[in-house]
Amino acid sequence: MNYRTTHLTQASINLDHLSHNMHLLQKLAGNRPLFPAIKANAYGHGSEIIARHLIQLGYTTLCTAHISEAAELAERGIQATFIILSPTLPENSDYIIHYGFQPVVCSLEQLRALAEVASGQEKQVTIHVKVDTGMGRMGLYPEHVPAFLDECSQHHNIIVQGICSHFPRADENDHTFSQNQIDVFARLKKDTARHNIPLYHFANSAALFALQDAHFDAIRPGISIYGLKPSADMQLPELEKLKPVLSLKSRITFLKDVPAGTGISYGHTYSTENLARIATIPVGYGDGISRQLSNRLEVLACGVRCRQVGRICMDQCMIDVTPLGNSVSLGDEVVIIGNQGSETITADELAAKQETINYEIVTAISQRVPRIVD
Ligand code: PLP
Repeated sequence: MNYRTTHLTQASINLDHLSHNMHLLQKLAGNRPLFPAIKANAYGHGSEIIARHLIQLGYTTLCTAHISEAAELAERGIQATFIILSPTLPENSDYIIHYGFQPVVCSLEQLRALAEVASGQEKQVTIHVKVDTGMGRMGLYPEHVPAFLDECSQHHNIIVQGICSHFPRADENDHTFSQNQIDVFARLKKDTARHNIPLYHFANSAALFALQDAHFDAIRPGISIYGLKPSADMQLPELEKLKPVLSLKSRITFLKDVPAGTGISYGHTYSTENLARIATIPVGYGDGISRQLSNRLEVLACGVRCRQVGRICMDQCMIDVTPLGNSVSLGDEVVIIGNQGSETITADELAAKQETINYEIVTAISQRVPRIVD
């Protein structure tokens, strides 16, 4: 008996769409390698499912944010080269060396701790040096990179595999800021040529689609591999070819007709105006659907858009299925993100209603929602 099947809210993962998106991205990248970002549970899609499929497609270098995310996958038998994108503390160097991860490094403390632990174990550690060309987050300033590389070369067990940077504004239509970052990075590449570093990598999804000059030697796409646009403002024809990988579906667990004036859910933020048919679905903020979407969300039932009414609870919310009349039944499928009949609800639609970005919508889908391959 698989008790997971009793969980009525599920994220369906379409691996054909993942393959399609990777093919599209690879065409844009030419023969440059792609290092897909599978951090935060593969943007909510389920990192094990996504990692296994990417490896099958030949993508064997994967990016996580944290050591723990990569270690969890390694412990489940996933054999890949993991780049750890976020800073790690010196005290965790032995985990990096034990698993053979490739950390992004940008402090001397981190570099020296890695070198010391690796040396004690007679091992080598492969790193990527992070440069802040304008993100304002982690990274060395470009002018400090040559000295940092000199120090790296003094540690016989440190291998610098890459130099990388990140874009804060590549998803905007005005590329002035990003172009300036690209110029700085290109200059740095020239200035550090004597170190023979194999890979200079910079581009995220937005830069892969919109900024040819940003491609350098490798690309780190995230959101686009999942079939989502980096920003609703980006209007490139190639972006329209992406196919969303995730659908979020649930089932109707309760149905009842209620009289006019019935308050629905906590705080009675919604009351029925007329006699109404109200369905309960087992989706709430405990599944990652924000309470901020209360009374704004729409879902699909019987191929028709239905309004979500009343406050979204932790485990449930209510939808008004009055327009469906007797065609709706207990157990019917409800789509929160995805297609049903000729209707579609996108993560972008939820993001616009919640005043956030599609990244947050899919990443928020919580651990208790099973990810099921379509
Ligand atoms: N590289 C770094 C350092 C990142 O932090 C991210 C994601 O935030 C990515 C690449 C992938 O970006 P995107 O999902 O916009 O393609």
